[in-house]
Amino acid sequence: MEQRETISACAACKKMSRECPPDCIFAPYFPATSTSFDCVQRIYGCDNVGRILQSLPVEERRVAAESLVFQAKARIRDPIFGCVGYICFLQHYLAQIDREIQETEAEISAAGYQPPQPPPPEQHWHQIPQMLEMPQIPSTPPPQETTRTEKKNG
Ligand SMILES: [Zn+2]
Repeated sequence: MEQRETISACAACKKMSRECPPDCIFAPYFPATSTSFDCVQRIYGCDNVGRILQSLPVEERRVAAESLVFQAKARIRDPIFGCVGYICFLQHYLAQIDREIQETEAEISAAGYQPPQPPPPEQHWHQIPQMLEMPQIPSTPPPQETTRTEKKNG
């Protein structure tokens, strides 16, 4: 019994009820098993998605397709803000974390705690003797201070 391999149409061609050509622009990014083409098609439309992918170099198409899926899902979840809602949320979250870091640093500083210095970057042992050399002491002695002699009364 011979088993024929059936090549199923990609998710986009299934949606458009057409035969999936071998050079289908959608097939690499929306395979037959993909469930994300529905939302992309709902937000952008099949023709626009095809046009966007066609306008890009091949190496950028996968990222573009993933971005379209992400943005379409965000738009369906939040029809007003879409992925801008995510961006605003994350910016707000980052600002909150930044405030917490500043408050914590202020508390640490107020407590007088000196945090341990992070270890220096990788050192090579043969360089350490050079690093430990004492600074050059000038040959001329520093000017002598005039010593005051105190007279003792008594
Ligand atoms: Zn196809």
